Amino acid sequence: MQLKIDTTFTKALPADSIKENYVRKVDRACFSYVLPATTSNPKLVHVSSEFAQSLGFAKTDLKSKAFLNLVSGNTIYPNTKPYAMNYGGHQFGHWAGQLGDGRAINLFEIKHNNQRWALQLKGAGKTPYSRQGDGLAVLRSSIREYLCSEAMHHLGVPTTRALSLALTGDQVLRDMLYNGNAEYEPGAIVCRVSPTFIRFGSFEILAAQQDIKTLKQLANYTIKHFYSHLGEPSKETYIQFFAEVSQRTLEMIIHWQRVGFVHGVMNTDNMSILGLTIDYGPYGWLEGFDFGWTPNTTDAQHKRYRFGNQPNIALWNLYQLANALYPLIEDAKPLEDILNQFKTDFDVKSLQMMRSKLGLFEDDNTDKLLIQNLEDNLLLTETDMTIFFRKLSELKKDESEQGLSIISEAFYAETISKDIKEKWNKWFTKYVNRLQQEQLSDDEREQKMNQVNPKYVLRNYMAQLAIDDAEKGDYKLLDELFTMLQNPYNDQPKYNKWFAKRPEWARHKVGCSMLSCSS
Ligand code: AMP
Ligand code: MG
Repeated sequence: MQLKIDTTFTKALPADSIKENYVRKVDRACFSYVLPATTSNPKLVHVSSEFAQSLGFAKTDLKSKAFLNLVSGNTIYPNTKPYAMNYGGHQFGHWAGQLGDGRAINLFEIKHNNQRWALQLKGAGKTPYSRQGDGLAVLRSSIREYLCSEAMHHLGVPTTRALSLALTGDQVLRDMLYNGNAEYEPGAIVCRVSPTFIRFGSFEILAAQQDIKTLKQLANYTIKHFYSHLGEPSKETYIQFFAEVSQRTLEMIIHWQRVGFVHGVMNTDNMSILGLTIDYGPYGWLEGFDFGWTPNTTDAQHKRYRFGNQPNIALWNLYQLANALYPLIEDAKPLEDILNQFKTDFDVKSLQMMRSKLGLFEDDNTDKLLIQNLEDNLLLTETDMTIFFRKLSELKKDESEQGLSIISEAFYAETISKDIKEKWNKWFTKYVNRLQQEQLSDDEREQKMNQVNPKYVLRNYMAQLAIDDAEKGDYKLLDELFTMLQNPYNDQPKYNKWFAKRPEWARHKVGCSMLSCSS
């Protein structure tokens, strides 16, 4: 195994001066050196082999003992020094102080084909940031992160990646529902990969500690390696940097809304400085279209992180980042302008995104109303978002009366009231009228719509079925879903059973509808 190691983060930024591994407050440092725990009987469950090659692994590497040892934390790659990153964060709207990598350990950075990647083991044992946690992860949450991050990538949603999923051979005690019924579960480690794992919270912790020197170093480092087109650091560059982070965050959220992804825990420590989806915990996919839905049981009361609130929360989180960067800029106006711009840009891009989902490409100022009416209709009776938009592309320009029957597969109820049917027929008349203005043929429009409306997403119950099998040592379904989700926009007839509504048994089953943070 020959990797092109290229360490920058630990070279450029201050390390915690304490070398022992015990829980503590870390001062004036961006990371602490720490070694992964040794696992008793590691076993590779799955590898994202195509992605592995883009990191510079050879195909033969992936089957080697050395690879397993690397991704389970049992051996350290020569001349590398693993570390946990320091960051803070606002959790559920409140400043939580130091959080940090409590159960993630960075191995090293690779530079391959001019692209930088940091490799990180999630669930590799305690670090100075573990607080009361054990630093470990269980198989179920690891499968969820592994499958979903790769699925998101293939959907075209900016995200961290996953290289491998391994069992540790150790048992981990978890109280999954927080109801006093703790049980042992199989421990697992995902090797996840990102150009960098720096978060909004990485800046917030330094600003909170008034460590402006390190804050500046971190901003300069981030710009140099990941926003290098902005040029040499200066006040103006920091402003541009913030503007670009806002833009990328906005793009990410628009993608989430397009595919019906709900992150579930949009705390500022879970916001990547690169605008990538990061930290897959109690996330979920919309089945019935519903702005009020959240998968996270911990958030069930206030639903802060519900589907429809994700854009507002992204903006709220950007305010926190702006506050953290303020000491480097000392001028609130340009930051406020950028935050205001976010709102305007969101309206424009959100409209654009919805128009593309509907196959509307010509200019028309009535589209906003058409989309509003559509969203109202989608809420009338439980309507599967993925099936609705996918089926919609089959409609022909001159067949408004066919609309309802084409999309009725998306309704969860067996019978739909006359009133609701009328509302849909009314909408379809408007929609088909609007389609008359489009230059594209029906076939061309269908093709374009199918590039933005996925056929297959990782429905919550699908992940749970893969988990149930994997816990019995059967990984076939995990592999099937992994493979299918590499081409989410293509019709794959052999996977027809996955283009279907959530089965009724899954409606209230743990893991299929609501999830706790326990992982
Ligand atoms: P999350 O909500 O999963 O992003 O985690 C919030 C914070 O809790 C982060 O600092 C994590 O590193 C930490 N954390 C979560 N689970 C554990 C665990 N099992 N052991 C140690 N720290 C954890
Ligand atoms: Mg996190």
